[in-house]
Amino acid sequence: MIDPFGRSITYLRVSVTDRCDLRCVYCMAEDMTFLPKAQILSLEELDRVCGAFIGLGVRKIRITGGEPLVRRDVMRLFESLGSRLGTGLEELTVTTNASQLARHAAALRAAGVRRVNVSLDTLSPQRFAAITRWGRLDKTLDGIFAAKAAGLAIKINTVALKGVNEDEFDALLAWCGEHGFDLCLIETMPMGDIDGDRTAQYLPLSVVRSRLRQRWTLEPSGFRTGGPARYYDVAETGRRVGFITPMTHNFCESCNRVRLTCTGTLYMCLGQDDAADLRPVLRAGADDAALQDAIRAAIRRKPKGHDFIIDRRQARPAVARHMSVTGG
Ligand code: SAM
Ligand code: SF4
Repeated sequence: MIDPFGRSITYLRVSVTDRCDLRCVYCMAEDMTFLPKAQILSLEELDRVCGAFIGLGVRKIRITGGEPLVRRDVMRLFESLGSRLGTGLEELTVTTNASQLARHAAALRAAGVRRVNVSLDTLSPQRFAAITRWGRLDKTLDGIFAAKAAGLAIKINTVALKGVNEDEFDALLAWCGEHGFDLCLIETMPMGDIDGDRTAQYLPLSVVRSRLRQRWTLEPSGFRTGGPARYYDVAETGRRVGFITPMTHNFCESCNRVRLTCTGTLYMCLGQDDAADLRPVLRAGADDAALQDAIRAAIRRKPKGHDFIIDRRQARPAVARHMSVTGG
């Protein structure tokens, strides 16, 4: 699939639920309304849409959410997608808050998952509780170390939050180095109503990178995961640190991905509202050819890029939906 700007679409992110057992302050309001079950695609429907994408050239699928591991029986989806590895699909991954990862790590590995991204913004139990509102750091750490023990490669995703965790990046980089994890820092994106003023949380990663350079030797790395992160080798730890900078540097020119929500809505861009609804196509009994036609038609509408802006006078989000709808 080639989009109107010549970009080859080989990566599908699938949000399998909008629900979550945490309420991270930058992601959700505390009092969220979730979707009724009837609107949610079954695991079989999700598998079928993924199969259609693989038939159209998608090589990598990431399962995300909400929190993907809180969806009941989600391992069935990992198993069915895992069985497609080597026959078109090259990589199956997951992004998780790790609260349930200790239970699932071995099964994920058995299903064919080799890498997991875990969101972790702090190593302080009190801060963790404040950022996630409902979370416990020890559960997340148990999940991370269970994944490591199961042989999964781990990348830690940390959202850079001004005045909240900005004094911890050195410690996080050292901790990741000690345990053999890569670290990826992310700028907050203005998505969905949250309970606070988002512009107050925004911290440009250009500032963070120069601060890290005072202590660490960062060499630009050629390493790419096919994602928007720019990586550096950290000489002192032998691991990598990545920066995802949607606000200060536009990463859209090399975008290779689209995002499917748990209701079957296909978003062609994380930072735009245009979407294609695949659920009516699926539920009208479309055959695989008709489903693939609907996907191709959507890819022809993929926009050039996002319009995120941080406007200090305007606290409104740039896109109305929360990050948990599309899973980042
Ligand atoms: N629940 C899983 C987790 O937290 O890893 C998967 C879904 S979560 C929406 C995916 C990623 O998006 C997480 O790393 C989270 O930190 C990030 N995220 C959520 N809201 C964000 C925002 N407004 N700006 C930047 N990143 C955000
Ligand atoms: Fe849940 Fe992930 Fe959003 Fe946190 S970032 S509230 S863990 S979906």
